[in-house]
Amino acid sequence: MDIVSHGLWGGIVAGKKNRRTYWTAFLIGILPDFFSFGIFFLATIFRITPDIAWHAGPDNLEIVPEYVTHLYNITHSLVVFVVVFLLVFMIRRKPFVPLLAWGLHIIMDIPTHSSAFFPTPFLWPVSNFRIDGVSWVHPYIFFPNLILLVSVYLFYFGYWRIRRSRR
Ligand SMILES: [Zn+2]
Repeated sequence: MDIVSHGLWGGIVAGKKNRRTYWTAFLIGILPDFFSFGIFFLATIFRITPDIAWHAGPDNLEIVPEYVTHLYNITHSLVVFVVVFLLVFMIRRKPFVPLLAWGLHIIMDIPTHSSAFFPTPFLWPVSNFRIDGVSWVHPYIFFPNLILLVSVYLFYFGYWRIRRSRR
């Protein structure tokens, strides 16, 4: 899924408690992509690497640096997510709910990435098994996602407004 959708879904699913938890979950929702392709884009923007991130796609996978793949494996693994979630749980003695936005990011990426370009390595490093999904740029995914997002946000904005006016 695209990075903006990840933030919006993460915030609404894992950060509904208050404004702070919303933005925390929003940020956590976009981090898996930020700490992989985001770094590649920043490196390109600031001309640290000569690679032109904007042209990275299924036809020229070779221009994607190896570090992006390594980071992608780590940030898009449900195994890594579960370990981190449990560690945080143990340290705080209670779950950190906004962190669920990370798990949600991975789960949403599994069916929305095809084998052609970064299929989700959700079982890394245990297994290399990946699902050949339909890319999120495909209209079958892009528009239903957009409609769902708008509906869910409209619902919650309505709900919050009603709740506030009753106070
Ligand atoms: Zn992702």
